[in-house]
Amino acid sequence: MQKLEQIYEGKAKKVFKTDDPSLCIVDYKDDATAFNGLKKGPIAGKGVINNKMSNRLMKMLETKGVPTHFVEELSDRETLVKKVSIVPLEVIVRNIAAGSFSKRYGVDEGVKFDEPVVEFSYKNDDLGDPLLNTSHALALKLATKEEIDTIKTYALKINAILKAFWAECGVTLVDFKLEFGKTPDGKIILADEISPDTCRFWDSTTGEKLDKDRFRRDMGGVEEAYEEIMKRFAEHE
Ligand code: ADP
Ligand code: UDP
Repeated sequence: MQKLEQIYEGKAKKVFKTDDPSLCIVDYKDDATAFNGLKKGPIAGKGVINNKMSNRLMKMLETKGVPTHFVEELSDRETLVKKVSIVPLEVIVRNIAAGSFSKRYGVDEGVKFDEPVVEFSYKNDDLGDPLLNTSHALALKLATKEEIDTIKTYALKINAILKAFWAECGVTLVDFKLEFGKTPDGKIILADEISPDTCRFWDSTTGEKLDKDRFRRDMGGVEEAYEEIMKRFAEHE
């Protein structure tokens, strides 16, 4: 597979064309950002961890019936994926109150929900990724009703699979963000990444944060937390 010109450079990854128009290569960087790019900094080794963890989680999801963009890991930081047209929705699933949910609704972090919460943000950096509901998404023509239903069904299925897997690793899956894309034949598949950048992971016993919140909140031990969560993952995969 030939790596051709760069199509896009995002905050955490670069995307390259390949000689097959239906495939692209994502290249994971160590760069981290938070608060819509206001806070920036490197997390040494993050790109390698996110690449490997995301690929293995997507492989696991595929075996359980969730279609994903994953094709082949090419190197420590590079992966071949199906090129999709990204649905401009950040799909967030929450099992426990944290982050923006706690802030917006005045709920202490750590309060458990009876049922998972699925919410959408409009993936639009200029607007600061505003929260929206299904009617808003339909009005803005971000996706069709059928596509949104499919996305919600997959998001809940992914949550059930990942929550159970992480519990075996001694990790509580608090919340996470997914992105879905559309293939040329109109199929909705899981894209982007699943990693400590996009999930909140708390040690099930101590509550210690093992994710990007350590960077967002200047808690220190950021690299160590990424290494620890990868170690737990590798031991239980
Ligand atoms: P951001 O754009 O938010 O800064 P990244 O640095 O992670 O994020 O950049 C990766 C970009 O590639 C994102 O915009 C993401 O939506 C997009 N992307 C992820 N998977 C695919 C895919 N399979 N096909 C096309 N684009 C993808
Ligand atoms: N998230 C993400 N990218 C974003 C916003 C959120 O990956 O642009 C993830 C985040 O890591 C967390 C979940 O989505 O696991 C919920 O994030 P929240 O809405 O609480 O936002 P935050 O507190 O990060 O601003």
